[in-house]
Amino acid sequence: MFRKSKRAVSAEFFEKHQAMFRCPLCYKTMAIIHFQSLVCGNGHCFDIAKHGYVHLLSNGSRTKYDQTIFAHRRLICKSGLFDPLYAAISGIIWSRHPHDEPIRILDAGCGEGSHLSNLQNRINRIKPQAVVAVGVDISKEAISYAAAGYSDAIWCVADIANCPFSSRQFQFILNILSPANYSEFGRLAADKGLVIKVVPGQGYLQEIREILYQGSGKQTYSNSRTRSRFNKQFHPLDVVSLRYQVDLREGLIEPLLGMTPLSWGTSRERIEQVLRPGLNKVTMDFDILIGSARDERWD
Ligand SMILES: [Zn+2]
Repeated sequence: MFRKSKRAVSAEFFEKHQAMFRCPLCYKTMAIIHFQSLVCGNGHCFDIAKHGYVHLLSNGSRTKYDQTIFAHRRLICKSGLFDPLYAAISGIIWSRHPHDEPIRILDAGCGEGSHLSNLQNRINRIKPQAVVAVGVDISKEAISYAAAGYSDAIWCVADIANCPFSSRQFQFILNILSPANYSEFGRLAADKGLVIKVVPGQGYLQEIREILYQGSGKQTYSNSRTRSRFNKQFHPLDVVSLRYQVDLREGLIEPLLGMTPLSWGTSRERIEQVLRPGLNKVTMDFDILIGSARDERWD
């Protein structure tokens, strides 16, 4: 039996949503042609890759990540460490979404895609096909890994400072443990659209932090500067703080260390200390900042 390639299936999906795209080079509207490329009115052409994502950066990106980090992240995300966070965010989206339209969610800085995919699945369990999920990351390797693992989403290699989408397209813009570009988020948010940013709280991975940074003054962390920047940019609606402890079953500490920048630049000796038996619980601590991209008082 004839079976469509992943590229062809993705091209159909892209075509259905092609109206949301704009060319990252000249800002003209775009369309899918020949079920293989996204092309703008000026002929700038971006091909759909075999795994079903589209690469919309004019220059290649160099990032510090490699495949091992993505594998580690996926393992950690699938192991349930983030499940309470996913439950909280999907609850926020579901309770605040406009009920008469599909929910368009952009995850800006989506990495290997597990956060977005998990949230999409949770919401679609309440109402099938409710979500159009779009993930953007500057790392080609991350997006390739995302597209290979998760269908049913639009995955784009792109710069979050110059997203390849027309203005006011998204009801929700997620930015989870990742750098932001607030002016671009403001442009992309639909009327009454919300920006949801997740930042680590003071207790995030504190058990690991204490060992790695002992005596360096870096064991404590404050997100107050990030929060005040967010509140200046958007009309703050709510902050949901979430703190819980998870059991670290065997084999999870190393991926957890590997997936965060925590251990970069730390001595091997300190890392060995973290890996020693004994560390079997770790604290997850997040603040979920919810802001309105357009101040509703002015609408
Ligand atoms: Zn163009």
